Amino acid sequence: MTKQNLFRTTDELAPLCSSMCKKLWENPECGGYEKESADYLRGILRDEGFIIVNEEKLKHAFYAEYGSGKPVIAILGEYDALPGLSQKVVAHKEPAAKGKAGQACGHNLLGSGSATAAIALKRYLEEEEVSGTIRFYGCPEEELLSGKVKMAYFHMFHGCDLAISWHPMCATVVYDEGYLANASVKFHFKGKTSHAAFAPERGRSALDAVELMNVASNYLREHIIDKARIHYTTDSGGLPPNVVPDHASSWYFARAPYMSQVRDILRRLELNARGAAMMTETEVTVEKGIGCYEMRCNHAFADLTHKNMEEVGALEYTEEEKEFAGKLQETVDEATLSSEQKLYGEREEALASGIYPRDFWKQATLNGSSDSGDISQIMPMNMFTTPCWPIGCAPHTWQAAASTGSSIGAKGALHAAKIIVGIVYDLLNDPEATEKIMQEFRQLEDNGYQPMFEE
Ligand SMILES: [Zn+2]
Repeated sequence: MTKQNLFRTTDELAPLCSSMCKKLWENPECGGYEKESADYLRGILRDEGFIIVNEEKLKHAFYAEYGSGKPVIAILGEYDALPGLSQKVVAHKEPAAKGKAGQACGHNLLGSGSATAAIALKRYLEEEEVSGTIRFYGCPEEELLSGKVKMAYFHMFHGCDLAISWHPMCATVVYDEGYLANASVKFHFKGKTSHAAFAPERGRSALDAVELMNVASNYLREHIIDKARIHYTTDSGGLPPNVVPDHASSWYFARAPYMSQVRDILRRLELNARGAAMMTETEVTVEKGIGCYEMRCNHAFADLTHKNMEEVGALEYTEEEKEFAGKLQETVDEATLSSEQKLYGEREEALASGIYPRDFWKQATLNGSSDSGDISQIMPMNMFTTPCWPIGCAPHTWQAAASTGSSIGAKGALHAAKIIVGIVYDLLNDPEATEKIMQEFRQLEDNGYQPMFEE
């Protein structure tokens, strides 16, 4: 089968791809609760002839394998939704089910597009006598930045050589500029209650400790690297003001280009917490959360992805899709829209149909994090995006949830499937290209990767 025929085979799977996109969109399940979504994809891949491998301790994670021999290629899929972002496929904010979850990050497309690619590649492997194994990975809890960290901890990626992932966004762009490492930690302060007016001297306020810790952490910002991020919330200290609060907690995220930097910021936050506890004569306990590593870029892999994007070519949209995208774009505020249009170099069309330059992300920075970073520590990995909503719309918004339920989203998923099959075709048939990627990975410094998760 030629590559062109493989692209055609993938195109023929468009009805299956759209029905998967729709099914996952109609039943949005949040991180940790993706039972039906995972079972649905397991069922489709099992019926297609894949062998399903589950992990007892992580119910909604699995991989579906087909083929034999090396290389073993992991195609990552996700399916979790976001709480409170339910939305109908309309160009104004209107929940499909009030207060419920919605696919506002397009993970319904991410799961479906990757599964479509795996099925197309299975058809290819059936026909050709090539060595190679395809694994579709059903990865839960991406929005919690924990699923792939736990999967790595449970050795679910053991035996894989290379990994490919993608994400819905507003344009066809390859990523090799990295994501930040991120870790989460909670500080629980314990004090003593007392009447706040009658006997304040007998009370020790846990809320004072949280506030003092936050003040210290805001001063800390000046003395950490520019690229680091610290954010915090508190969900406690909520007794009536005439009672000195004896319990209060603060929840912190720290992000930085490398996990080693994140660990150092966590250490300094802990010092702030201990200092605040000392000042207020309260006690503090530290609850370490899950952390995900930075993305280790592989430029040879990104080159191969970009080459395949160009081979797949630009997308075409119907008049209806353009009109719907235009209406969604009109709901974005003027300042955001014009800066996004400037970045994507597009004024006339709401949908970015073309292929963006290889070095696109050099002109902008990515300050988010993803648990895919952990995969890039284990093996060479590349990620890319396809347009699944209009330029100016952001992930985690009602506009994105509306678009990911429409044919625009399904088109973005199939486009991603075609790019993935093209990349895998090259990995299977061009040992030199594969070796170049493997070699770049081998040359990376060993950073002692350990999944930041404890059972
Ligand atoms: Zn996402």
